[in-house]
Amino acid sequence: MSKQGKLIVFSAPSGSGKTTIVRNLLNRDLGLEFSISAASREPRTNEIHGKDYHFISLDDFKSKIGNDEFLEWEEVYANNHYGTLKSEVQRIWDKGKHVIFDIDVIGGLNIKKQFPEDTLAIFVQPPSIEELKRRLEGRDTETPEKIAMRVAKAETEIEYAPKFDYILYNDVLEEAQDEAEKVVSKFINS
Ligand code: 5GP
Repeated sequence: MSKQGKLIVFSAPSGSGKTTIVRNLLNRDLGLEFSISAASREPRTNEIHGKDYHFISLDDFKSKIGNDEFLEWEEVYANNHYGTLKSEVQRIWDKGKHVIFDIDVIGGLNIKKQFPEDTLAIFVQPPSIEELKRRLEGRDTETPEKIAMRVAKAETEIEYAPKFDYILYNDVLEEAQDEAEKVVSKFINS
C-alpha cells in the first residue's frame, strides 16, 4: 500500500454513539471518506450492502484472510468477523481523501500501530454502562441475549480507553460532535 492521506479511527463500545458522531463528521467539509468494512454477519433491515458494510460469507471472509487482503480483522463476536480491506483504504487515498474508521477497539489500535504518525485514534466513552444498556435497548434492533453480549464486551473495551490518542466523552451528543470536529480538523491540518 502506498500511504497518502491520514487515518482517523473511532472506536468505542457498541451503543456509545460513535456511529452517529462519525456520520456527522462525514457531512462536514473535512475531506473524509468512510472505510466500509467487510463483515460476515447478516445485514440488519436498514443496512445496505456496499454502504454500511461489504456483507460477505464466512467462507469468503476466511479466503480473504488467507490472501492477506486485510489491513486488520477481528472476530468481534462469535462467528461474526469484521475487517478492513487494504483495497478499501487505498481506494480512498487514491481519491485524495482521509480515511475515517468505525471499528472495534482492538482493530483501532491495530491500525494505529501500523501507521503511528498518521493515525488519530479516538475512543468514544459512554457516560456509564447503565446508559449504554439503555441506548442499546432503545435501538430495538437486537435480542436481549445480543444486548447482554454487547454490554459484557463494553465492560472490557472501556479498559482500553487510555491507549487511545484522545478520549471523547459522549454525554451530550451535540457537544461531543463539535469537539470531534475540532480535534479531527486540527490533526488533519497539522
Ligand atoms: P455492528 O455489528 O454493531 O455493526 O458492529 C460490531 C462491532 O464491530 C462494532 O464495535 C464495530 O465498530 C466493529 N467493526 C466494524 N467494522 C470493523 C472492522 O473493519 N474491523 C474491526 N476490528 N471491527 C469492526
